[in-house]
Amino acid sequence: MVPAYLIIHHTGAEEKDAAQVRRYHLSLGWRDVGYHFLIERDGNTVAGRSPALPGAHCRTDGMNGRSLGVALIGNLEEHPPLPDQLTALLALLTGLCRCYAIPPERVLGHREVRGAKTACPGRYLDMNAVRHLLGEGLT
Ligand SMILES: [Zn+2]
Repeated sequence: MVPAYLIIHHTGAEEKDAAQVRRYHLSLGWRDVGYHFLIERDGNTVAGRSPALPGAHCRTDGMNGRSLGVALIGNLEEHPPLPDQLTALLALLTGLCRCYAIPPERVLGHREVRGAKTACPGRYLDMNAVRHLLGEGLT
């Protein structure tokens, strides 16, 4: 799969780490964790399912088949991401945008996907600020 979009999520729960999210998704019978990357509280970035595989993170608008899913661990509807998480998110997105030639305007919060009915990735993640910083880093 060649992704045209990057979709940002929060896990919406306060998991301890990426391994806990993976165990949960496997318990649902999925072949692997639904996201392609997870960012833990300390900023550690963990690979999820292979970017070669479609995701299981955003069925809306066919995004599972044309985007990579990146999840921040935590409930960002309740609290902001930790500074190390934001730093790691920007570093990861910068690398992925370069690798796949994805412009910042195609980096969307889950709720910004056309037709999505979700608060994900939470009101404390400012996607406009993320895209702005990303654009600055890419120029
Ligand atoms: Zn989401």
